[in-house]
Order: sequence, then C-alpha cells, then structure tokens
Amino acid sequence: MKALVKTTAAAGLSYVDIPEPSMGREDVRIRVLRTGICGTDVHIHRWDGWAQRTLTLPRVVGHEFVGEIVEVGAGVGALRPGQLVGAEAHLTCERCAHCRAGARHLCTGTQGLGVQRDGVFAEFITLPARSIWVHAPGISLDVAAIFDPFGNAVHAADTFDLGGRTVLITGAGPIGALTAAVAVHRGARLVAVTDVNPFRLKLAQTLGAHHAVEAAPGAVSRLLADLGMDTGFDVAFEMSGNPQALHETLSHVDRGGHVGLLGLPPEPVPADWADLSLRMITVHGISGRRVFDTWHSMRELLRDGLDPQPLITHRFPADEHDEAFAAAAEGSAGKVVLTWSEPTGATA
Ligand code: NAD
Ligand code: ZN
Repeated sequence: MKALVKTTAAAGLSYVDIPEPSMGREDVRIRVLRTGICGTDVHIHRWDGWAQRTLTLPRVVGHEFVGEIVEVGAGVGALRPGQLVGAEAHLTCERCAHCRAGARHLCTGTQGLGVQRDGVFAEFITLPARSIWVHAPGISLDVAAIFDPFGNAVHAADTFDLGGRTVLITGAGPIGALTAAVAVHRGARLVAVTDVNPFRLKLAQTLGAHHAVEAAPGAVSRLLADLGMDTGFDVAFEMSGNPQALHETLSHVDRGGHVGLLGLPPEPVPADWADLSLRMITVHGISGRRVFDTWHSMRELLRDGLDPQPLITHRFPADEHDEAFAAAAEGSAGKVVLTWSEPTGATA
C-alpha cells in the first residue's frame, strides 16, 4: 500500500509502498478515505527539534482521519465492514489506574498515532476496536476527517460553563477558531479572538467569533475599553502556544475567572503566580479529548447545526503531499485535507 512515511532524519516525507499492517483479534482494518494535516505533522515534516527528540524512524505519519471498515477481528463484536469511522488518536493502555477508572484521557501509557506508533497517512490502517468511533450517517467526509482538532476545541469549551459568559481566545488556528464556534453555540455572550494572522482572524469570524483582534501589545486592553468592559473576560483560552499570548490570556481574565490552557509553548514560560493567586484565577490544563464523551458532544453539536466546514480551506490528493504540506505550513490556510480513496458505498 501507499503511505506517507518519515524515512530519514531530514525535512520532508516519502510517499512510498509499504506492507499493509497486520491485524489482531481485537482490531479492525480500515481503508483510509480522508486525512487532516495537523501542526504536529508539520513539525514532523520539518524535522524540528521536538520531532528529532520524539520520533523513532521509519514512521508512518498522521492521526486525523476518516475511513471505512473493511475487516473486523474475530474478537470484535460491535463493528462491521462498511461502517464510516474515526478513532481516538491517543491509544490508551487500558491497564493504568486512570484507564481502569474510566478516565482514558488521563492514561499514563498513552501512545500517539503517527508519533509513537504508525499513523493514518496510508491506504490502510489497523486499530484496536476500543479506539474506534462510528460516525453518524450522512456526515461530511471533510468534517469527519477533522474530528481530532474539533474534539480538542469541544473538550476545551466544555470544560467550563460558557452560557452568558464573556470569552477570550488567543490564537485563531483551527482549534482556536473551532473553540470560538463552540463557545458561540454554547451561548457565550461575547467571544473575542486574537491572532497575528489576518487570514485566520477572518476565519474565526466566519466560524462565529464576535470580535477578531490583531494581536499586539495593548490590543486586548483596548478591546475591553472599546466594549466598555471594566472587568476582564469570564473565561480565557490560550490556543496559540505563544508566550506573549499566554501572558495576555492570564492578565485579561477577570478576578475569579477561568483559564483553559491548550496551546503548547516551546519553552517554559514564567507567570506572575502571586497575581494569579490574589485574583483567584483557576487554570485548567486541557489535552486531547475525553474518550468518548467529547465525541458524543461533537456528534450532538453537528446535529444541532454547528458547521465546521468553512475551516477546511484546502484539499489535495495524497500524492500531492508536498503542495498540501506547503499550504498547511503557510499562513493562508485553515485545515488542509488529503484524499486517499472514496467510500465504496457498501452498506454498513
Ligand atoms: P496553529 O499553530 O495552527 O494555530 C496557532 C495560532 O496562533 C496561529 O494562527 C498563529 O498565527 C497564532 N498566534 C501566534 N502568535 C500569536 C499571538 N502572539 N497571539 C495570538 N495568536 C498568535 O495551532 P492549532 O492546531 O490551532 O493548535 C493550537 C495550539 O494548541 C498549538 O500550540 C498546538 O501545539 C496546541 N495543541 C495542543 C493540544 C493539546 O492536546 N493540548 C492538541 C493539539 C494542539
Ligand atoms: Zn492507561
């Protein structure tokens, strides 16, 4: 089968033939239809310091996908060929205390698809049945392909009660823009987004953000003054990974307010802990998705009319991966989706 593989310790990926993955009793074999390119894949493509420290080569890349089941293992009861599926890309150990307590998002032995084990940028993948999510009938393939970052946004937004609240989001990348959409859907009274990239600010507005502000020193303070708000935001999400943005988030949340941290700064960032303490701020780390609560919430949000489609700005066939990665690395893109094959239409 064809796959996009990091074969050598250098920039780029190779579109090569590799053997189809083997299959166990508890696994399903999936034909990949669409995949999304994540920032993680761009780091691996570039072969930056994080990728060099983290990956063992060769490695099939990718973790955002939708596919069609083609085979189920003898020990798999509830799934069948023809079903349109995604998967939780953090493969959990099922043995640690958190897994056994049903908190699989806190698993201590989690392995990332396309990072610690071979990923989904391939014609076929096999995955444990316990990690599979079956999509609602009629879902758009593009939207199903981006359930992973959509899930990050839903996990973040649903960590807090946003109804009637004022919300700041620093970073209007795919996750920040989707969080704005979910926050509006959940009834937030005011959703403001910052970014240094005008294209992405526009995208966040298309997805529902009420205010989109170019990030610059003093910009959030000016927005608060313009809006006549003499307090900070009730809830602030850091979704850029930029240290200056993290500072903006922490300093513009209201007294007694809540901060959701999802962005990953490349280095440790100092913070004014005394200020956070005296203002009684709650800081909540957010990673991945809740398995599978977040997935159920995504299904309901789509059914209720939330539409992430405007976020998908580029589509390429898998063999045009160079063009696709160039688009994903460049500023004027939301999500970039690769096509691997079409559904057979086999009834599930
Ligand atoms: P992305 O890199 O596409 O988006 C980040 C955005 O932040 C970009 O649009 C960038 O222009 C903007 N930005 C840069 N400097 C800024 C500043 N000073 N102020 C405001 N915005 C600024 O990333 P993404 O895929 O949307 O992910 C967002 C963040 O979340 C990244 O840091 C990523 O590493 C992290 N992440 C965390 C998890 C998790 O589970 N915790 C999962 C996925 C991604
Ligand atoms: Zn575990």
